[in-house]
Amino acid sequence: MTGSAPITQDVLTIPRKLPEGARTNIVGLTRDKLREALIAMGTPEKQAKMRVNQIWQWVYQWGVRDFQAMTNLAKTYRAQLDEHFEITLPEIVSKQVSADGTRKYLVRIAGGHEVEVVYIPETDRGTLCISSQVGCTLTCSFCHTGTQKLVRNLTAGEIIGQVMLARDDLGEWPQPGVGTGESGPRLLSNIVLMGMGEPLYNFENVRDAMKIAMDGEGIALSRRRITLSTSGVVPEIAKTAEEIGCLLAVSFHATTDEVRDELVPINKRWNIETLLDALREYPKASNSERITFEYVMLKDVNDSDEDARRLVKLISGIPAKINLIPFNEWPGAPYQRSDWSRIESFADIIYKAGYASPIRTPRGEDIMAACGQLKSATERARKSKAQIAAETGTG
Ligand code: SAH
Ligand code: SF4
Repeated sequence: MTGSAPITQDVLTIPRKLPEGARTNIVGLTRDKLREALIAMGTPEKQAKMRVNQIWQWVYQWGVRDFQAMTNLAKTYRAQLDEHFEITLPEIVSKQVSADGTRKYLVRIAGGHEVEVVYIPETDRGTLCISSQVGCTLTCSFCHTGTQKLVRNLTAGEIIGQVMLARDDLGEWPQPGVGTGESGPRLLSNIVLMGMGEPLYNFENVRDAMKIAMDGEGIALSRRRITLSTSGVVPEIAKTAEEIGCLLAVSFHATTDEVRDELVPINKRWNIETLLDALREYPKASNSERITFEYVMLKDVNDSDEDARRLVKLISGIPAKINLIPFNEWPGAPYQRSDWSRIESFADIIYKAGYASPIRTPRGEDIMAACGQLKSATERARKSKAQIAAETGTG
């Protein structure tokens, strides 16, 4: 290099910050992708792994959003990061808090779409219910989200971003140098992929986001504290165990193909037998990691004693627990919740057959935050506009 080279270089590296949105968002990049991006920015390959570790800890362990605060990086390097990258989360548009403490966040993502995220506090833990898609391509007849057409898949950043913004709201990031957040029970200790969308139709983004949630140098949730719920996308089920390793829940909801075709139409593609075969082979299922069978209790549709007995027979041999979900009503829903005594008799039959059969207490009903009630207000408005247009013939 000639003597004048450093001057030229200095001139070239004066940070010219790209506009908001044109920079790469760090949130949602896997370690490998972050490494590649840092190298593309000019980080020497030999240093890249260490830089990934440093940035990773700031972002996911301490919740830092400003490169300038990353004090173990050189000032010039921080400026360079600032020029090329951003650390942004989806935006909380509104927050509602239920009488029972459940919090529902309406979250805006790129393109102006909205998804809902629900935090459910319990005595010994707190569960965050996150969304994987805006809307859903499936049309389960009892599900409010199912009445909303799919708008798009969420990115990995938008999925892990839901976890991060809930931690922001709960004030749960540890203070740098004070502790890692491991000392007491966490406010946000569990994640369920049970919000809007079918996670197995957005597999790669869900996988990348959950890998970030499980990473020991960041948010560090155990894979056993993450449950992915699927309506039964059979070809992706084994991959869930292999590539994510989290727990599995299946929206079962019926004991005959005739009824399940109606309630969970994906059953027409992969019927009960095919689904159960896939679950019998689920590599991770064991007595300590049982598969949850979700079963929504719909009055006079799927709630008879005969259904309960059939259910027990169907799942025999699968390490399972059955989660009975009293149907949550939504405006215009074509079903009613089963009577409480009916739910209890159903639970009793399952319990006597040797399965845990917890009845899921509806949470956050007063703010429409319960299972299957999620549907973003804007999409609701859009839909009603479309309906009005259809009715008046102006569409
Ligand atoms: N798409 C995935 C995950 C989201 S739904 C799936 O279907 O599994 C999360 C759970 O809520 C599913 O078991 C779903 O069947 C259930 N659910 C949907 N609508 C509901 C309602 N109105 N009342 C009670 N549970 C409902
Ligand atoms: Fe989609 Fe799940 Fe609702 Fe079915 S229950 S429509 S798969 S979100």
